[in-house]
Amino acid sequence: MKTYSEWQALSESLTFNGQAFINGQFQPAVSGETFPSINPTTEQLLTDVASCDAADVNIAVANAREVFKSGVWSEMHPRQRKQIILKWADLIEQHKDEFAVLDTLDMGKSISEMVNIDVPDAIDCFRWTAECIDKVYGEIAPTGNDTLAMIHHEPVGVVGAITPWNYPLLMVSWKIAPALAAGNCVVLKPSEKAPLSALRLAELAIEAGMPAGVLNVLPGFGHTAGKALALHMDVNVLAFTGSTRVAGMLMAYAGESNMKRVWLEAGGKSPNLVFADADIKKAAAGAASAIFANQGEVCIACSRLYVEKSIKEEFVAALIEEAARFRTGDPLDPATTMGPMVDGTQLATVERYVRSAQEEGGNVLVGGLPEYEEGKGFFAKPTIIDNAHNGMTFVKEEIFGPVLAVCEFETEEEAIELANDSIYGLGAAVWTQNLSRAHRVSRKIESGMVWVNTWGEGDTTVPFGGVKASGNGRDKSLHALEKYTDIKNVLIRL
Ligand code: NAD
Repeated sequence: MKTYSEWQALSESLTFNGQAFINGQFQPAVSGETFPSINPTTEQLLTDVASCDAADVNIAVANAREVFKSGVWSEMHPRQRKQIILKWADLIEQHKDEFAVLDTLDMGKSISEMVNIDVPDAIDCFRWTAECIDKVYGEIAPTGNDTLAMIHHEPVGVVGAITPWNYPLLMVSWKIAPALAAGNCVVLKPSEKAPLSALRLAELAIEAGMPAGVLNVLPGFGHTAGKALALHMDVNVLAFTGSTRVAGMLMAYAGESNMKRVWLEAGGKSPNLVFADADIKKAAAGAASAIFANQGEVCIACSRLYVEKSIKEEFVAALIEEAARFRTGDPLDPATTMGPMVDGTQLATVERYVRSAQEEGGNVLVGGLPEYEEGKGFFAKPTIIDNAHNGMTFVKEEIFGPVLAVCEFETEEEAIELANDSIYGLGAAVWTQNLSRAHRVSRKIESGMVWVNTWGEGDTTVPFGGVKASGNGRDKSLHALEKYTDIKNVLIRL
């Protein structure tokens, strides 16, 4: 790991390209408009970014369709497609420090998280998915001796991908790796709050040998570029990660346009259940990471903590000790565990929810209202609020910041009921040393993912996604490839 001054030197040496990337070329938006990309730690301009809109989307989608139809990628030999994506992963690895710095500067994530999680996980996603390309087979249906029915998995054509800012590189990788591996062309609209790593990724794809026009990146706002992509009549599949509010809009856009398939990975308000028989020290460390990692800007953040009443006092004391590990600072410093919020809007959201928690009877044990100073970065405080219950606004709604609600329960049934009392169903953590309880509770929890005696752990081999208002799609694993293929059955009478 580099030192603080080495990361600073690297960040000063970088130049950024904020232009759109269409058909293998960087280019300005058709309108010539740009918007500023701001470093949330210093509040200084990083670079101006092309503000794409419907005109750019039309060009990129029409070009992607032509490239798809030409077969240069969709009909390339699977092994060759695999080699290109593997080479791309090697190039990302060669530039791993640059990618780490790009996201840290663009959205404030700590460099340690970039180095230890985001960058290696993104590389792994490309490698693992590439390896699937020549290992996934079609099927023959058991129709009987006089017919042969083959089931083919075909690329869908043009995939539109819309991604958030909280894990800029990783969320983009989870979408585009399987979409491209399946043979599609992609038009990606990264978040306007952190578009730089996606643009660099596209540039490296060309260096790895990916034909021009297979991967296009259009930076821009949601209501302009994003909406135009979602409404486009020639996009076959839309893959989205972001808020539940926007996810709902995308379903409507699909209905208003061409009924494109829409895969949604949306918001969350994940519960963390700590039973009296849990390993208290480990559970407290897990509960702190589950809300303070990445400044709480994590879709699976366990922002609702439910502790069994008999151990609550002891557990909360251990939790407060663990919370002290999280200190805000310059995210380029490897010792920093919490960077700034992505922007002033997100910081104001945190402030609003802390205020509402206090007004509704919450007791601030750690942290509290942010103390913002202009020009010094959008820093929130790691915050723990006791006396919370499911009726309070800050317990119901996704904050997307480092604010933990501490609630209590007395029985297993009550814990399950409280955990499921949410519109969301993304992740959940359960801390217990009773094996039967671990299984019982995991089965009853309404969520796409459950962690027992851990939080947030995953692997490229396991699917990631939610139920209820947290969405319908799954990133990672073989299930992700299913999102980007159509099934065709060809039946031959023999
Ligand atoms: P967001 O919904 O505001 O934006 C996500 C993307 O949608 C951005 O690229 C944005 O420009 C675009 N967008 C906004 N309005 C649009 C519109 N009208 N039409 C088309 N596109 C539009 O979300 P965000 O603030 O970037 O990210 C935070 C949210 O993402 C949180 O709710 C978090 O829980 C969620 N998230 C979910 C997962 C998951 O896997 N389930 C992972 C990470 C983040």
